[in-house]
Amino acid sequence: MKMSTKARYGLYACIKLAEKFGDEFISILDIAKEINVSDGYLEQIIAKLKKDGIVLSQRGSLGGYKLAESPLNVSVGRILRSVEDNLEIVDCLSSDCKSQCTCVSRGLWQNLYKQINLYLDGITLQQLVNSSNGMSRIYLDHAATTPLDEDVLRAMLPYMTDIFGNSHSQHFFGREAMAGVDKARQQVANAINAKPSEIYFVGSGTEADNWALKGIALQRASLGKHIIVSSIEHHAVLNSAEWLKNSGFDVTFLPVDKYGMVTPEILEKAMRPDTILVSIMYANNEVGTIQPIEQLSEIVHKGKAVFHVDAVQAVGSIPVDVKKLNVDLLSLSAHKFYGPKGVGALYIRNGLNIQKFIVGGGQERSMRGGTTNTAGVVGLGYAIEKAVKNLEKNNSHIKTLRDAFVERVTKEIPYVRYNGHPTERLPGNASFSFEFIEGESILMLLDFAGVAVSSGSACSSGSLDPSHVLLAMGVPIEISHGTIRFSIGKHNTMSQIDYVVDKLKEVIGRLRMMSPLFVLKEGEDKNV
Ligand code: PLP
Repeated sequence: MKMSTKARYGLYACIKLAEKFGDEFISILDIAKEINVSDGYLEQIIAKLKKDGIVLSQRGSLGGYKLAESPLNVSVGRILRSVEDNLEIVDCLSSDCKSQCTCVSRGLWQNLYKQINLYLDGITLQQLVNSSNGMSRIYLDHAATTPLDEDVLRAMLPYMTDIFGNSHSQHFFGREAMAGVDKARQQVANAINAKPSEIYFVGSGTEADNWALKGIALQRASLGKHIIVSSIEHHAVLNSAEWLKNSGFDVTFLPVDKYGMVTPEILEKAMRPDTILVSIMYANNEVGTIQPIEQLSEIVHKGKAVFHVDAVQAVGSIPVDVKKLNVDLLSLSAHKFYGPKGVGALYIRNGLNIQKFIVGGGQERSMRGGTTNTAGVVGLGYAIEKAVKNLEKNNSHIKTLRDAFVERVTKEIPYVRYNGHPTERLPGNASFSFEFIEGESILMLLDFAGVAVSSGSACSSGSLDPSHVLLAMGVPIEISHGTIRFSIGKHNTMSQIDYVVDKLKEVIGRLRMMSPLFVLKEGEDKNV
């Protein structure tokens, strides 16, 4: 690929301008010195960037150059194309090809050229600045979302470019897109031991949960009006249940034990002859507790109720087999297992009747209207197949890191509480409550140290209300406020874990020194 020295220096210059982005103009001499190039040569390069509106200039004693917009909005592709004209990869793309015959390789190069540009357009100047600063950023928030795997992206890309047809169109373009959707449906079905006819693609885990609860409740309202959900569900389920309550259904919010577990006894007591739907999550997003779904399913199915399981946190993290679990509906979401955001699926057991939730066209066998997100669905299929194939290998790595993390935190930091079940929990989850301090402050100081965690579930952070999950588990309000969820993923390493524990000790120590509650406690302990 043609990328000259000129393009490289153009990029270096932009990185320097990005590092100093603000009101000030930077002199050409300063930039040239920093990137070790002559100012005359640099001036020619910057003239191109200026012509394309990437940099602004100012004359005079305070003159120089600055970026025209935030480095967050400037892509690497744009800079390289500005300096280089075109990032031609082979001559036959740049020169006017005189050949009249169909040239197979030209199409191939054109496609490669498109993909290279797409890739470069996806990287911002800010990302380059961050990596050139060498700031180590550690992501321990995989329960909120996971990074998209590169091979998943590669599988999706053709469906955003060449295979752009509407999968419901009758012509070749449509059939080609539909073939990708069909393959993904089969991949999802294989991953959870279902049939492809039982898989419905939706826009998110939230939509799958809404559809399951509202669709079943409205379908079965003539059989009864009682619905059961656990009190530690995600808000997608809890708020759907509230909506049904406001629409005349009677909803029981099941209590859990101190580990966040719905025991069979608790469920059995709540079941009634008019119970039509029970919804219990497979694994909790805040504390990671895994529910005994097989046992609970037996109880649900003693009556006429239908069993929905929100498996958004479980799929890709633990084995999920809808036949073995004996569930009627199950929700999943691609972005929790290194797939794309904004696409999920609802498993609906064959033969189960449910009302539509999103009405429109005839997509998803007329059960969910809306033009299919082909690229997203293809990414979901690819990601779930990969996650299931590598489940054991990834889990053994993730669990080793999690156990080492938990061991060090509980040993080295006093007044800490490990939330959730000691064994029945997601391999990557470690939820801790640090007494006498606020989770939000811990999160902020860890963020400054380059460590990303969550102070509760990502969806509810932003509110300072104590977590409904911790409260349901009986964690005292004042302790629940100091809770941090660490969720480990397949790319984390042991040295990152060690770094995080070291930083965490520092942060907790600093915050406790400022906490009147902690100072009081220390005083009491000394007097004993
Ligand atoms: N259910 C659970 C248990 C979740 O953890 C989440 C997201 O965090 C959802 C549902 C919502 O999924 P989505 O983000 O795809 O809407």
